[in-house]
Amino acid sequence: MAEETSLEDFLDAGDESEDEEESGASAGDDTTEPESEASGSEASTDAVDPAVTTYAWSPDGAACAECGEVVERRWTQDGHLVCGACKSW
Ligand SMILES: [Zn+2]
Repeated sequence: MAEETSLEDFLDAGDESEDEEESGASAGDDTTEPESEASGSEASTDAVDPAVTTYAWSPDGAACAECGEVVERRWTQDGHLVCGACKSW
């Protein structure tokens, strides 16, 4: 087994959106700067656009976690990579 899990590790790391860098862009008042408390505890739900789907591209094809179909493109669903047919859109 020479295959490594670097691809999935990369996807997990790349999932961290940097959209929250937008600080002080539209401050109407000149009140005190909003502290990190404004984003709440679960910032990830706010930062991820629901329209954006994380998918993995495997040029040689990879097996779907649900049906085992070997496809080039898989999407993440419940922490697994599944093919388009198994993905719940
Ligand atoms: Zn499938």
